[in-house]
Amino acid sequence: MTTFRSVNPARPDEVVGEYPVHDAEAVDAAVARAARAQRSWARRPVPARADIIAAAGTIISRDKDAFTALVSREAGKVLVEAGGDVQEAVDMAWFVAGQGRAAWGATVPSELGDKLCWTTRQPVGVVGMITPWNFPVAIPSWKIFPALLAGNGVVIKPSEHAPACCEAFVAACVEAGVPADLVQVVHGFAEPAAALAAHPGVRALSFTGSVPTGRKVAVAAMETGPRLLSLELGGKNAMVVRADADLDLAVEGAVFGAFGTSGQRCTSTSRLIAHPDIAAELVDRIVKRAAELRLGDPQDPSVDVGPVITGSSAERIAGMVAAAVDEGATVATGGEIVTADGCEGGAFFTPTVLTGVRPDHHIARHEVFGPVLAVLEVADMDDALAVVNSVEYGLSAAVYTRDINAALRAVDAIDTGIVYVNAPTIGAEIPLPFGGTKHTGNGFREAGSRGIEQFSEVKTVYVDYSGRLQKAQIDTHPPEGGAPAGTEGR
Ligand code: NAD
Repeated sequence: MTTFRSVNPARPDEVVGEYPVHDAEAVDAAVARAARAQRSWARRPVPARADIIAAAGTIISRDKDAFTALVSREAGKVLVEAGGDVQEAVDMAWFVAGQGRAAWGATVPSELGDKLCWTTRQPVGVVGMITPWNFPVAIPSWKIFPALLAGNGVVIKPSEHAPACCEAFVAACVEAGVPADLVQVVHGFAEPAAALAAHPGVRALSFTGSVPTGRKVAVAAMETGPRLLSLELGGKNAMVVRADADLDLAVEGAVFGAFGTSGQRCTSTSRLIAHPDIAAELVDRIVKRAAELRLGDPQDPSVDVGPVITGSSAERIAGMVAAAVDEGATVATGGEIVTADGCEGGAFFTPTVLTGVRPDHHIARHEVFGPVLAVLEVADMDDALAVVNSVEYGLSAAVYTRDINAALRAVDAIDTGIVYVNAPTIGAEIPLPFGGTKHTGNGFREAGSRGIEQFSEVKTVYVDYSGRLQKAQIDTHPPEGGAPAGTEGR
C-alpha cells in the first residue's frame, strides 16, 4: 500500500509518522466496521456513553504534556498554543459528558387530554468527519465526542498534515472504553475524503476546512452522500478600532489575533479597520510589537511564532502579499519567508502589516491563513461596519471602543457568527456555539449546547393514554353547525 509521511513543519526532514494512503475501498470497509460497532453502542444508556467520554478527557489530561509536544511537533504550534489545543479536547470531553446527564429533549403540554408529547434524540448511524490540521486534537474532539454521545459510529479522515495527533486522540478514546471498531480513522489526501463525503452509508458528514474544499464536499454529499451536512469553513475576520478605543488593549489584541498560530486560525484577525485619527499610532505600535516577536522552533518555550505548515503555504502567502503591493498596499513590516536557527527547511513567514489597503483589494476580501494583517482606514462607524460585512465570510469580528452604545450597535450590525467587544477575533470557549454565517458555514454550530445537533436526529413522540381516538389537527372547537368550511380534509 502507498504511504505518506507527516513531518515536523519546523524541520521537514524530521518524520513524525508514516501512514497508509487509503482508497475508496478502504473507506467502504471502515464505514462497514463502524456501522457494525454502532449498533451495540447505540443500545448503551446515554450516561454510560458519557462516562466513557469523561474518561477520555481524564486520559488526555493525564497525557497532556505528551499530546502538547506532539501537536507542537506535527502542526508547528508554539507550546502554549499546542497546550491550549489539547486542553480544549479535555474541556470538550467533560462538557459533552455533562450533556449525557442533562435534558435530552423537551416535554410539551398536549392540546388534548390524557396525552403526553416529548422530543428525544436518536443517533444517525455512521458519521463521517473530515478535519483540517490547525487544531489537530481540538477539532476531532469537537466532532467525535458529541457524535459518540449521540450514539453514533465515526469514520474520520484527518488532515494529511496531522494524522499522528488524530491517531493519538482516538487511542485515548479506545483506552477510555470506546469500542475499537466504533471510531475508524482513514488516511490520505483528497481521495479518501471525497469517498467519505459521497458515501451512501454515511448518514451525517461534518467537515471543517477551507471554503473551496467545503464546496467540493457539499457537491459530493448532495449527490449520493449524507443527509446531514455540516460545514465549518474559513474566515476573513475584522477588528474595528474606534478613535475612543483603549489603544494599549487594541495593540495587544491585534498582535495576538493576527500573528498567533502564525495567523493560521480560522478566526485569525486579518483586517484591521481603524479610524484615521488613531490609525498611524496603532500601526506604529503594532509594527514595533510584531518586530519583537521571536520566530523559531515552536518547541522552544521562548519562541512566539512558529513556522507555517508547509513551504508551499509560505509561497502562497508571499504571493498574496505581492499581489496586495501591486494593488497599491504598502508593507509596513514583514512580508518575507525566512529560516530560523535549528529549523533547517522550515518555512517561517515574518509577521506582516499591510497599510493602504482598500476594501476592494484582493487581500481585503480573501482568507490568507498566514500572519498578515491588512489595515484599512475608515472614519465613519457605519461605513466601517459595512466593510466588516462586505466579504463572503462570516466567522468572527471584534470591536474596540469605550462607548457602550457604539459597541452594542456594532454587535447588532455585524453579520458574523461570533462577535467580540474589546477582545481579539480569536478565543472561543467550549460551552458556547462556534461557527459562522454566509459562506463560512451552512447554519450548524459546533460546541456549546447545539454541538450535538449535527450528529443526531430529533424524534417527536406522542403517547395517548385516553383509551379512545382523540383527533389532533382537527378543529376541536367548531362553530355551531359543524366543522368550519375548508377543514374537512385536514
Ligand atoms: P483544507 O480545506 O485544505 O483541508 C481540509 C480537509 O479536507 C483535509 O483533511 C483535506 O485532506 C481534505 N480534503 C482535501 N481535498 C478534499 C476533497 N476534494 N474532498 C474532500 N476533502 C478534501 O483545509 P486546511 O488547510 O487543512 O485547513 C485550513 C482551512 O480550514 C482554513 O480555510 C481555515 O479557515 C479552515 N478552518 C475552519 C474552522 C472552522 O471551524 N470554521 C476551523 C479550523 C480551520
